[in-house]
Amino acid sequence: MINVTKTFLPPIEEYQKQVKRAWDNQWLTNRGELVLELEEKLKSFLSVSNIIITNNGTIPLQIALKLLGKQGEIITTPFSYVATTASILWENCKPVFVDIDPEYLTIDETQIEVAITDKTTAILATHVFGNPCHLEKIEKIAEKHNLKVIYDAAHAFGVSYNGKSIFDYGDVSTCSFHATKLFHTGEGGAMFANNPDLQHQLFYSHNFGHNGPLAFHGLGINGKISELQAAMGLAVFPYMGKILSGRKKVVDYYDDALDFSKMKRLKIRENTDWNYSYYPVIFETEAVLLEAQKQLNENQIFPRRYFYPSLNTIEYASGTKMPVSESIASRILCLPLYVGLEEHELKNIVGIINRCL
Ligand SMILES: *Cc1c(COP(=O)(O)O)cnc(C)c1O
Repeated sequence: MINVTKTFLPPIEEYQKQVKRAWDNQWLTNRGELVLELEEKLKSFLSVSNIIITNNGTIPLQIALKLLGKQGEIITTPFSYVATTASILWENCKPVFVDIDPEYLTIDETQIEVAITDKTTAILATHVFGNPCHLEKIEKIAEKHNLKVIYDAAHAFGVSYNGKSIFDYGDVSTCSFHATKLFHTGEGGAMFANNPDLQHQLFYSHNFGHNGPLAFHGLGINGKISELQAAMGLAVFPYMGKILSGRKKVVDYYDDALDFSKMKRLKIRENTDWNYSYYPVIFETEAVLLEAQKQLNENQIFPRRYFYPSLNTIEYASGTKMPVSESIASRILCLPLYVGLEEHELKNIVGIINRCL
């Protein structure tokens, strides 16, 4: 069976070696040696000056929205994983959807300003499939209207834009280290900020607000990652080069072999070092997608409809119509992409899809 992704598992002995350190230390959580080491390794790998690793990729969105959204209106994309919209509502803010660019699939920056009201507090946009949003334009809009910018960079591990880590942009960027993501700790995530005051707020917020054992800086929640998850991260980390080059091979194969006369691929933004995180294709109609999906499934190949449905159509989000996002969501399919997909498997996938077009 071939799934859309396959979690990279390091040799079990290497995981056990890391876990044994937690046993030896008799220390399982609260920012132990393994978490601190993983943070240092990631900081240098990603070339960022700060990182706070967390228990998943959703809690950093909630913390950022709690601190910066202030229960106001949040301008956001309808084309993302449900966590993006759900976090806004969970923090008692109101999602205000802005449609997406049909090529880059990120929020359409040219439509942001008309959506701003006196209740708008922040923009929460997703670097979809690791493809950066229009960072300069969004920064300008935010400055002009005094808004905060939060990037859901769950897909963007290792991406850089204009030679700088993607996590360096916006007031806060968040990432996910879920088992299905490029770099993983089983469950896990991270948040990034450049402003030292904001870094401090993010930090205490993910640790119950503690200021030492007896005092508090402010309100907080439990966003801490454990040593056991950090052990997985430390065991996966040495393979990042192999993971990226293995995925690039698959992406290059699809790029060469798929028939793009009747189907579209993702357009990566200029000046981007991409991370080969997903391989979406956009069919001409939903009917073609469903036929391709059916035939792939009959061959034990299971791509995923990322992202479907468009988030503005979810009942609790009660959004307005988003024609581009709804149209793309009905026609987009993410193909299997992971290290170790074999050439005969890729040939089979490509053959089935090209015959359906
Ligand atoms: C995976 C994902 C999240 C949530 O991350 P978790 O680690 O699963 O909590 C948020 N946003 C996007 C776009 C995602 O793909």
